[in-house]
Amino acid sequence: MAKYKITLIPGDGIGPELAAVAKDCIEATGVSIEWDIQEAGVDVMQKAGTPLPDSVLESIRKNKVAIKSPITTPVGTGFRSVNVALRKELDLYACVRPCKSYEGVRARYQNIDLVIFRENTEDLYAGIEFQKGTKEAGEVIDFINRYSAKKIRSDSGVSIKPISVFGTERIVRAAFEYARKNKRRKITAVHKANIMKFTDGLFLEVSREVAKKYPDIEFEDRIVDNMCMQLVQMPEQYDVLVLPNLYGDILSDLCAGLVGGLGVAPGANIGDQYAMFEATHGSAPKYKGLNKVNPVALILSGVLMLQYLGETQAAERLERAIADVIREGKSVTYDMKEVRNDPTAVGTREMGQAIINKMKAAVR
Ligand code: NAD
Repeated sequence: MAKYKITLIPGDGIGPELAAVAKDCIEATGVSIEWDIQEAGVDVMQKAGTPLPDSVLESIRKNKVAIKSPITTPVGTGFRSVNVALRKELDLYACVRPCKSYEGVRARYQNIDLVIFRENTEDLYAGIEFQKGTKEAGEVIDFINRYSAKKIRSDSGVSIKPISVFGTERIVRAAFEYARKNKRRKITAVHKANIMKFTDGLFLEVSREVAKKYPDIEFEDRIVDNMCMQLVQMPEQYDVLVLPNLYGDILSDLCAGLVGGLGVAPGANIGDQYAMFEATHGSAPKYKGLNKVNPVALILSGVLMLQYLGETQAAERLERAIADVIREGKSVTYDMKEVRNDPTAVGTREMGQAIINKMKAAVR
């Protein structure tokens, strides 16, 4: 019997070709996995009547761990994003995005090794919004104008920003636990507490309280605008960042840019019961079926999954093989070449095979 049963969601667009390669690379580490393959996304919408059949959630609830390729968010169909639905249904409250420099990736900086912990459920992304001109918006505005010295104009749209003690405690705790487990030295909480005293202020206050329970790990905080400047000027000074949802979203992309962009940006969505690993990038439909795009972000997400499972050596072997292939710069996809139409660029499958060959050569 396999040691692990893991849900694999091939997704749509470039998803299935990336999933096939990532699966082969993860298997080549020797960790014994039985894959529970579950279809979701635009390709199953017609057959199943929904882009997220119940069986997908049931499978993850049973197996606890999933790896997911990108899924297109259908526009104008009334279906919400499958990616958001999965995070919400499974309460995957921590979005973890490591941003690490690999030699050979074209980027402005070297030696960056940051990890972002973005809160995934609250803040301005909670989805509590009132459209300008509606009865509800009018009532909300009237209510606020009664209780606040500051007035909202009647022709406003309103988005609500809830940040709770519960939500903050668990994301900050998750960041500290990760730091401890992965021998990271410092946590930086990012906020705008000087302006938003009752939301970001609460986030900062609760972060400080949680930090007291982890005296072995350094703790500091930064105001988000200053953090952006510091990340661009001296990213090497930072280690693990913990942020509310909106700042986390923006700084995740900033940090992905620091290390070379979407092709190499892995991610994880983690809750107390379940974890789902996925690349930061989307389904890039225009490249579908062309065997062209970079599989590294999803394979690195597989590295994160192996780490999460406690398969540390397998994770290290796979990451080393990826790093070697990137450093050599030979068997890499078009986006990693100096000129985009370099004819020596290889396809998705060939890059995956080069990574597998590296792992095989290392054990010989
Ligand atoms: P995208 O990330 O799919 O693509 C943007 C561009 O980035 C591509 O055109 C391509 O040039 C480049 N790119 C992306 N992945 C690459 C890879 N592996 N290798 C090389 N180049 C790569 O973003 P988009 O076009 O805004 O979104 C397309 C669809 O994906 C949308 O429906 C969106 O909702 C969805 N999406 C899904 C996820 C997810 O599944 N978690 C995340 C983001 C976007």
